[in-house]
Amino acid sequence: MTIYNLGSINIDHVYRLANLPRSGETIHSRDLSHGLGGKGANQSVAAARAGAHVVHLGAMGSGDDWVLRRLVDAGVDTNCIARLEGHVTGHAIILVDMAGENSIIVHSGANRALPDDTVTRDLTGIGPGDILLTQNETSLQVEAATRAKSAGATVIYSAAPFEIEALRAVLPHISILAVNEGEAFEAFAAFGENLPIEGMLVTRGAAGAEYRDFTTGEIHRQAAYPVKAQDTTGAGDCFTGWFAAGLARGENIPTALRHAAAAAAIQVTRHGAGDAMPDRTDVVQFLE
Ligand code: ATP
Repeated sequence: MTIYNLGSINIDHVYRLANLPRSGETIHSRDLSHGLGGKGANQSVAAARAGAHVVHLGAMGSGDDWVLRRLVDAGVDTNCIARLEGHVTGHAIILVDMAGENSIIVHSGANRALPDDTVTRDLTGIGPGDILLTQNETSLQVEAATRAKSAGATVIYSAAPFEIEALRAVLPHISILAVNEGEAFEAFAAFGENLPIEGMLVTRGAAGAEYRDFTTGEIHRQAAYPVKAQDTTGAGDCFTGWFAAGLARGENIPTALRHAAAAAAIQVTRHGAGDAMPDRTDVVQFLE
């Protein structure tokens, strides 16, 4: 069973500062680090480290080969990532002050310029048992979801960053909606509590997560594991990637939730996003 992930690939440039700059102010950075980010890449790495066969569909600029190598090293199939001349790789400028508060600028770059034939060419082989993961950081989500669902695959959509019109467009073509607490609130406000899909994964930070099965009416709840969190960037992506990997290998919902919560608990104790995703050995040891 394959997880196809149509998703963003970003470089996170993280600057640590004494304080966040006000308008017109110039501040010298104390530290700079570069990491792998983007909800798409984060989820691909999480699912691959969880042991799934992951094919990433996306686009980058023509340089930045180290980014591709990180994905390959994590076990992600990168053959369907287009390298676009004339576009920069998506990136985020992340400013973090001494108190851990942040301000972030995201430039989508190649992520929103996917070649039109991405879906027809790269999703040809998708079928029952496979999963399409996608988020709201690229183009072509509706096209990809339509094709995957009609081929009998399960479509998991992370509605982040949250845009009501984007969700409205993709909703008829997805199986599972993955959201955090704030996004869940907005989705319920717009579409009611019983969405016309199979299920909804809601993560609530240190308060845990739940899966609402709309076909049976059941709600499966999963507590968060108590850990000392250092950096929660990408925790939701870690959870979603691990949950998808669990479904891909045939786990039931409670088991997939438990593994995803353990993985996310480990991830928040590490710095970084894509680079901080735990693998199966980490999770097995954590749960011992
Ligand atoms: P992000 O946007 O940073 O990726 P998110 O808002 O999408 O995060 P959260 O709901 O904050 O995602 O977190 C996802 C999951 O990570 C939670 O359901 C929980 O299992 C785990 N998690 C997050 N914060 C903590 C914490 N402080 N301690 C333990 N687990 C945590």
